Amino acid sequence: MRRNLTCTICLILTLACASCQSLHTTSTSTPFQHRFVREQLVLHSDFPLPEQHRLVEQLTQQRDFLCEKLDIPATDEPIHIYLFADDTSYYDYLRLRFPNFPARRAIFVETDVELSVYAHWGDHVAEDLRHEVAHGYLHAAISDLPLWLDEGLAEYFEVGRSRKGLNQPHLDMLLAQSELASWQPNLKRLEQLASAADMTQQDYAEAWAWVHYLLESKDKAALLTDYLADLRQGITEPTLSARLEKRLVVPRLAMAEHLQILR
Ligand SMILES: [Zn+2]
Repeated sequence: MRRNLTCTICLILTLACASCQSLHTTSTSTPFQHRFVREQLVLHSDFPLPEQHRLVEQLTQQRDFLCEKLDIPATDEPIHIYLFADDTSYYDYLRLRFPNFPARRAIFVETDVELSVYAHWGDHVAEDLRHEVAHGYLHAAISDLPLWLDEGLAEYFEVGRSRKGLNQPHLDMLLAQSELASWQPNLKRLEQLASAADMTQQDYAEAWAWVHYLLESKDKAALLTDYLADLRQGITEPTLSARLEKRLVVPRLAMAEHLQILR
């Protein structure tokens, strides 16, 4: 049965998600008194949210950007966004609705019948919603996306279109750890990660870096888009790391060089 959870990590905390934990829900009365639909997005909130808000515009436009960038078709599966005016009511609701799930600033929930995002209107709401809604658009189009790639793509799209995927905190972290010789790219290792509970902040950063390298380097995007096209058909082999090794002598060096150029 298709049922899993993914969630964003806070960029200022070194916390891992627990996406593959079982989802146990309890019934609660809904606090969402406001609702409107914008294209594929269904927005529910416990406060009046302007339908013409610029963030809502960005989120609806994100679908075309994401589909164009990844060469995947747009879908019309609704993505429900549940928004709280403040963090207290948000975390209270999460404790009731998902008692076995560790609290995170925003979460993406996929069940057999619904794709949904939960978040609160805090300082990071824009990046949180861009991140979680990216998961929604991706999951609507591609089933069984590898965990590392799911998160790497969400980290790429969370910064907004104008930044061309440049996630500066991730770049800074990887460059700093590179200089300390405490990290080097290893896509095969990332591909082995099966649970977000095992993902560190560094793993999220590296997942972002591989996605950015592929999408923003000359002549590399097709490696990723062809792989995504295969995944849509249920073809999982060869892995992306195997495809990269066929194309490049030492992929990890090429990716590390890409980060240095971004410096
Ligand atoms: Zn995520």
